[in-house]
Amino acid sequence: MSRSGNTNLLAKKIRSQTSLKLSTASRLAQQVHTYLGPPIPDAEDQPQRRLEAYCAHVLARRFQDGQLNGALLGVVEARPTARQLELVLEPAMADSVIYELLPRFDKHYGGIRGVPGLRPRRRQGQLVLRDSFGPAHLIASRADRKPLHLPAPRDGETRLWKARGRLSRDEKREAREWDTSIPHIVDAPVRDVLLSRILRRPALVNRAAQPHGFANCYTHHEGDLVIEWCCGDTVEAFCATLLAHDFAQGLPRDEAIKLLSAHMARLGGHTLILRRHPSCQYGKGPFSAQEIAEHIREGYAL
Ligand SMILES: [Zn+2]
Repeated sequence: MSRSGNTNLLAKKIRSQTSLKLSTASRLAQQVHTYLGPPIPDAEDQPQRRLEAYCAHVLARRFQDGQLNGALLGVVEARPTARQLELVLEPAMADSVIYELLPRFDKHYGGIRGVPGLRPRRRQGQLVLRDSFGPAHLIASRADRKPLHLPAPRDGETRLWKARGRLSRDEKREAREWDTSIPHIVDAPVRDVLLSRILRRPALVNRAAQPHGFANCYTHHEGDLVIEWCCGDTVEAFCATLLAHDFAQGLPRDEAIKLLSAHMARLGGHTLILRRHPSCQYGKGPFSAQEIAEHIREGYAL
């Protein structure tokens, strides 16, 4: 099919999955220049989507603007199937990803950090991260194929992930809050499917971090994830690429996407918030983007 034929088909798909007008959907479709490839499968059941969403949330909250080589959540490649998700991790960030995901009680913080119920098991250089709350798991490996390390405890920490087959009271409470944190989360299944899709699409999501090697991501609460960047894709181009890859499929149409301005959009109600600064944040500051990237790298080498 011709390029214009593909663009028209894509515009119709975007329109059918959102409340955007056909003219807006067409404008977005014209901004998609990536190879679409085969559809990226969703996790087939709620426990798997929930686990993946929780991991995306924890990693966004931890890494913020501290990524290397454009790996927004520390992930350079995902191999998703309906039943599982394998994450290939940026080598310098890989041990930090595992450390952040595994649950531990932090007495200085006064609560749990990481994903409650997650338990690791080694498998031929990979780690299988099983969810003790349900039939869900992730597989993690390093992009350079070196083995992943299980983290040593840091000051004031108790490693809850060492307790196989047993869930602490704190983990149970934390897990309940993830599922029921009203009013921040209007629709927990929508939150879970969208954040799971984020983790399953690193090649698309990492576009935000491509120009400088890092971007900014954070959360306000358990119900959202914010991505902020400056150079590279416009907000519309970024949204268009996500929508072309079925990011809004099956969402309530009215809440699927809101293009709020040239610099901001929301997807899935208030679940995914995209912000692009109108000008480069690193051109005139005291440090260049390259110097900041070197500083970040030094932090991971400690
Ligand atoms: Zn910039």
